[in-house]
Amino acid sequence: MVEIRSVHKSFGPLEVLRGIDLSVRAGEVTVVLGPSGSGKSTLLRTINHLEKVDQGWISVDGTLVGYRRSGNKLYELREREVLRQRTAIGFVFQNFNLFPHLTVLENVIEAPVAALGRPRKDGVAAAGKLLARVGLADKAGAYPKQLSGGQQQRVAIARALALEPKLLLFDEPTSALDPELVGEVLDVIKDLAHGGTTMIVVTHEIGFAREVADTVVFMDEGRIVEQGPPADVLDHPVQERTRAFLSKVL
Ligand code: ADP
Ligand code: MG
Repeated sequence: MVEIRSVHKSFGPLEVLRGIDLSVRAGEVTVVLGPSGSGKSTLLRTINHLEKVDQGWISVDGTLVGYRRSGNKLYELREREVLRQRTAIGFVFQNFNLFPHLTVLENVIEAPVAALGRPRKDGVAAAGKLLARVGLADKAGAYPKQLSGGQQQRVAIARALALEPKLLLFDEPTSALDPELVGEVLDVIKDLAHGGTTMIVVTHEIGFAREVADTVVFMDEGRIVEQGPPADVLDHPVQERTRAFLSKVL
């Protein structure tokens, strides 16, 4: 589903991604771990072309991200084409990023109805199902500020699902939550994982990684240091840097 090959990315003199290779199979859950500043968010952002790569390439479901190939040449897609490509990828951020002036329902139908012009009736029906799936069927008319952080993040997940993405990206989805609200959000993500949604999750929740991940990837200083099944990477890490990191977060 996702192929990342030799991806490099710099911000000015700072090389943030230093040759990333990663494959994610359809239906699998990849958890990305690593210290702050190791490039995890930048990697997620390159996958839907929120950041352009400097070298290498990324494909999602067989389609090159952000570029079109013609013969030997690569042409960058126009903004409209990039936006269309992005509709196949759901992104859930640390800080929910809901529209504060829109109700829960309007947040969920914004992309399919307001942005893509699908019939409102269909959008509302689909949103009702999605809100039920994240346990918020009774909150359709509420505004984000009337909800807890955990509820807001569950709305953000419903919103990400509204375009039926092939791939879901989560960037530290529980890091901004009070500890007692983390579980309800992880439960929703676990439910999606068990339902076969392909996802890449950046998180420090090791218990979640152990339970849900097919593959755990440990990043440090812009490189993948180690990757494999959770039982290997979490319980028998080979690399010293992985061990040092895990000893801090466990
Ligand atoms: P992580 O998510 O692992 O904490 P990030 O991918 O957010 O790491 O950041 C990696 C490095 O890139 C950090 O040093 C960060 O300050 C830097 N960085 C991220 N985005 C930008 C940007 N838009 N401009 C300049 N530097 C950036
Ligand atoms: Mg980050």
